[in-house]
Amino acid sequence: EPIDIPRMLESIRQRLEQLAERNEVSFIMDTKPAMVMGVARLLDELAYNLASNAIRYNLPGGTVTLGCGMDEAGRPYIQVIDTGIGIAPEEQQKVFERFYRVDKSRSKARGGTGLGLAIVKHAAVFHGASIDLASELGMGTCITVTFPVQQFPAM
Ligand code: ATP
Ligand code: MG
Repeated sequence: EPIDIPRMLESIRQRLEQLAERNEVSFIMDTKPAMVMGVARLLDELAYNLASNAIRYNLPGGTVTLGCGMDEAGRPYIQVIDTGIGIAPEEQQKVFERFYRVDKSRSKARGGTGLGLAIVKHAAVFHGASIDLASELGMGTCITVTFPVQQFPAM
């Protein structure tokens, strides 16, 4: 079914508002029109897991930007940017593995099981999307999920 991505991100913002307040993190919405033919529950889990990580691995006073739109090639994308603790280069591939958590002692205080990004990857692969991760320790993280060019059934 066709999924309205800006609307989905707005719903995620509402569901995570309390967690964001507890962590003293504020949302920035940067949504432009984007539609993806897909499975609503999987896309919701994908964006929800990225957004909740962006809150939990942030710092007080930080921001989480929920973005979406179409790139130059006409491909829809979802982008989550945070101003948090960042992920070291040697960890950047491993975090997508099931149960992998960076520095168990550090991240224990922040809860979690290490499944979130494995779910993100599964949902991306299912939709034929690619994941790009850019991160710098102490600066923040930007994860972009880019979907193939979409074709919608004629109405
Ligand atoms: P959960 O299953 O509750 O999501 P989790 O958050 O530990 O647990 P993942 O979402 O898979 O698991 O993330 C894996 C690890 O990657 C995290 O434990 C954390 O160390 C690191 N990580 C994920 N997102 C970020 C981020 N935005 N900034 C910094 N580190 C991150
Ligand atoms: Mg997580």
